[in-house]
Amino acid sequence: MGHPAILTVDDDPSVSRAIARDLRRRYGENYRIIRAASALEALDALRELKLRGGRVAIMLADYRMPQMNGIEFLEQAMDLFPYARRALLTAYADTDAAISAINLVDVDHYLLKPCDPPEEKLYPVIDALLDAWLETGERDQEELRVVGHRWSEPSYQLRDFLTRNLVPYQWLSADDPEGRRLLDAAEVGPEAIPLVVTADGRAMAQPSTSEVAAAAGLSTAADRDFYDLIIVGGGPAGLGAAVYGASEGLKTLLVERQAIGGQAGQSSRIENYLGFPDGISGGDLTTRARRQVGRFEAEVLNARDVTGLRVDGSARTLTFDDGAEVSAHSVVLATGVAYRPLVADGVSELTGSGIYYGSAASEGPACQGAEVYIVGGANSAGQAAMYFSRFAKRVTLLVRGDSLESSMSYYLIQQLHNKDNVQVRTRCEVIAAEGEGHLQAITVCDSKDGRTSTVECGYLFVFIGAEPRTDWLGEAVARDGRGFVYTGPDLLTNGTRPKGWDRDRDPFYLECSVPGIFAAGDVRANSVKRVASAVGEGAMAVTLVHRYLEAQ
Ligand SMILES: Cc1cc2nc3c(=O)[nH]c(=O)nc-3n(C[C@H](O)[C@H](O)[C@H](O)COP(=O)(O)OP(=O)(O)OC[C@H]3O[C@@H](n4cnc5c(N)ncnc54)[C@H](O)[C@@H]3O)c2cc1C
Repeated sequence: MGHPAILTVDDDPSVSRAIARDLRRRYGENYRIIRAASALEALDALRELKLRGGRVAIMLADYRMPQMNGIEFLEQAMDLFPYARRALLTAYADTDAAISAINLVDVDHYLLKPCDPPEEKLYPVIDALLDAWLETGERDQEELRVVGHRWSEPSYQLRDFLTRNLVPYQWLSADDPEGRRLLDAAEVGPEAIPLVVTADGRAMAQPSTSEVAAAAGLSTAADRDFYDLIIVGGGPAGLGAAVYGASEGLKTLLVERQAIGGQAGQSSRIENYLGFPDGISGGDLTTRARRQVGRFEAEVLNARDVTGLRVDGSARTLTFDDGAEVSAHSVVLATGVAYRPLVADGVSELTGSGIYYGSAASEGPACQGAEVYIVGGANSAGQAAMYFSRFAKRVTLLVRGDSLESSMSYYLIQQLHNKDNVQVRTRCEVIAAEGEGHLQAITVCDSKDGRTSTVECGYLFVFIGAEPRTDWLGEAVARDGRGFVYTGPDLLTNGTRPKGWDRDRDPFYLECSVPGIFAAGDVRANSVKRVASAVGEGAMAVTLVHRYLEAQ
């Protein structure tokens, strides 16, 4: 992020120029010398530097300046750069003031102007200040910085988005001094959180996910208006379709609203996917798939929500939440499922403030020493229990059914059994959540005896049944009562083709009730909810897209 700065501020131009020149001559190779003609100009320069993630090694301030004297300036400057070493430039007559500043406020040194010759009067002091600064150290800032609050839902959403998209960032609490310094530098208050500051110093208060995605270098705009194939959803099914589509020469666009990897990306360890005998984390699998998609040059749009689908003759047009559109000859719906909300008193108010859906990997370290509860009895809940057991004091799995055996894989049940800090409570339901500003306790009802108990709980992760959220598809795409998309043989009623079907053939195996639109993975009615089957269906959908295009 460039060299650290040495700043000098003096309203007397000839002195200021001479000091800056001398500093540049000796330190210019390793330090950036910034010269300001007034305290206000210097504070502006420091604010900009703060936002850009720059570092300041030394601040030299003239004692007598018109708007603000040097001591007042250094006190304000310290709020922005507390590690910078500080010196006052004084005339002989002000020596006493300078000495008392050293004693009373936190100024390291004073220098008598005009500091000539510099070898005697300037450099020894600067060398000593640099030595002191180098010892305390301050690191370069090359990543996004996020200032937020631990228990704020929008701050959590942003952290989750960045973590799931594997974007490196530095998290700063608005309550911590450095977080406050960044808010000050951006000239906003705590109401502006989450505040994102980019490596080049741009501050964004409460940005949308697509603004953050763009700032993090993720692509958010399509290169073309028309593609051979658009895939909606970047989970295993969508990624499978993108790799096969692009590798077989189709102009392919994949659109993802949240994070590439989908549900699988949230898994702490997938142990039953072929080819990974020791298991693989969802993040790792996603990184590999993302690279593969890039290698075959499929285009990926991040943080874009598809909200509408229209048939325009032979074109299939998708609309985004901001009204933009993109069209293709064919579409693969690979939108998977999202967790169903937990309905209990207090839950919606505390969601994002201790209650989370899915495994929320970003919260792992924060759970250190906490009582963690997980609702759900499927593999996803079991994996989360294993993951959080690394951090939490204790993890309790709350399962509605009689046992885990009917819903969780045998290997996971064994792993949980062997963990000392994991316990399983069956036939239990959460009926209330409470806390001041963040989750502190939950009330659990035990259906074996109907008793309720309120227990201390810092974190609750919810993994209950999932739903497809396909309302945006409208009437044209036939779905079952829960919203899962019907395909192929499921669309035929006693051999009769679906309403509005205009081809003299039956729908292909993964084709929906609209020709040229296919569904793959968890969103498909009666699909197997597994990574392998989703990837397989994604690949198969591309073969059927070829068949469809050949017949056009
Ligand atoms: C924590 C966890 C652990 C799991 N562990 C295993 C395991 O060990 N083994 C196994 O086989 N299976 C496992 N599963 C199940 C497996 O992950 C899923 O079956 C698989 O991810 C389904 O893939 P998919 O592509 O169909 O859908 P998803 O993975 O759900 O992906 C769908 C994607 O579409 C995006 N999307 C949705 N709507 C839109 C829209 N309108 N516009 C743009 N994008 C949209 C979503 O954001 C999402 O990223 C696990 C699931 C979870 C949650």
